[in-house]
Amino acid sequence: MAKKLGPLDIYRYLPKTNCRECGEKTCMAFASQLIERDVKLEDCPQLMKPDFAEKFHHLKEMLAPGVKEVTIGTGDAIVKIGGEEVIFRHELKYFNQTALALGVHDELEADALLKRVRYVNDFKFKRIGEELTLDLIAIRSVSGDPERFAQCASKVSAETGKPLVLCSYDPKVLEAALKVVGGKRPLIYAATKDTWKEVGKLARKYRCPVVAFADDMSELKSVASALRSMGIEDIVLDPGSNVKNLSSVLGKFVLARRAAILKDDKDLGFPLLGIPAATSAENGLEKTLKEVMIAATMMDKYADLLVLHTQEIWALLPLITLRQNLYTDPRKPVAVDPGLRSIGKPTKSSPVLLTTNFALTYYTVVSDLESAGIACYLLVIDTDGLGVQASIAGGQLDASKVKDAIKRVRLGEKVKHRKIVIPGYSARISGDLELQSGWKALVGPMDSSGIKEFIEKKWSS
Ligand code: SF4
Repeated sequence: MAKKLGPLDIYRYLPKTNCRECGEKTCMAFASQLIERDVKLEDCPQLMKPDFAEKFHHLKEMLAPGVKEVTIGTGDAIVKIGGEEVIFRHELKYFNQTALALGVHDELEADALLKRVRYVNDFKFKRIGEELTLDLIAIRSVSGDPERFAQCASKVSAETGKPLVLCSYDPKVLEAALKVVGGKRPLIYAATKDTWKEVGKLARKYRCPVVAFADDMSELKSVASALRSMGIEDIVLDPGSNVKNLSSVLGKFVLARRAAILKDDKDLGFPLLGIPAATSAENGLEKTLKEVMIAATMMDKYADLLVLHTQEIWALLPLITLRQNLYTDPRKPVAVDPGLRSIGKPTKSSPVLLTTNFALTYYTVVSDLESAGIACYLLVIDTDGLGVQASIAGGQLDASKVKDAIKRVRLGEKVKHRKIVIPGYSARISGDLELQSGWKALVGPMDSSGIKEFIEKKWSS
């Protein structure tokens, strides 16, 4: 979608009956939702009728994102990459987060291979209520032996439900593995200027997405164009990850993404792949540091899939955290539902604490309460997803809102006391709150890590 569309551009192709079958009050409202990608064309039953087939296809084309969405894997175990239509996140949002693959190769001992595969399977890190994981396993042919590569792919496939990337520049090696795991729709890496025809045939035969690789941008365009001419639509681009010339790598990533989104360049309108492994002879620590730094740079500008070597948790942690932050929706605050939560098994004498519905604050407070073993009630106020300081400053957290929330959740029936611990940064509403609600406001610590000590010293029911 190179041209910025407005609702009117879409509306002219809709049925214009305002029948409301899509759940929207008008076709114009539906058009606005389509642009925001909050609904799909298929949600309009009228548009699915044969009379509208032409308009449906026209709209489909109009609304297609500049970067095609590519699916790797099958069934529940799929990873979607690409599907992006803006350069800057604040213009809409980024849709499919950068997928992270961990590399293995066919010369690893069986134990070491399985250990790495299981590491990917088991990798889970919970942050702001979201489970962050690794997404794929990239199997590289080091031996160059088709049979050995196929055996390795078979072993990995038997051990994991994660989608695979099969990596070799030799079509014979790739086909050996595809014969074994091709039904799982792995990503084939890679077609080059010399092999695009053979690798393209494999992609078609096994119906798998395929990577076009070239260090040079015009060559990359040619390889992608050649694959497209074979009718292949699921392509991923690797513009080369020469870590000795990072500014050039970054330049190529930016050039490809701008061409796809701003110039509607169909040959470059595909997800981007980066391999940030530092291959020079530094020691292990330097290598890992470099790898994670390069990976973060690529993720920032605009890698859709990264193949990683490191499995150090200290290196992966900042990457998955960066990814989570980049891919939040800037149009919506990261919020949780307001209401009353029970932490542990509270009784009528248990403390009552207050927090906002900003997800980061909420999960931090819950985690501190749980790790301190404090059974209590937590009253979560709807502050439009803002934290304590911002909501106090902006008026989203005030005494009357807390008073209403206390009433709404019938807090008075849950406990026999009338005391509520409010965050230190909301001290200035304590007087008003006591006047309006009749509950005593105890001003708690500035930081929830101090709650345990605060409750031990100050709380008595
Ligand atoms: S279902 Fe289709 S025709 Fe009916 S209001 Fe929605 S967009 Fe318009």
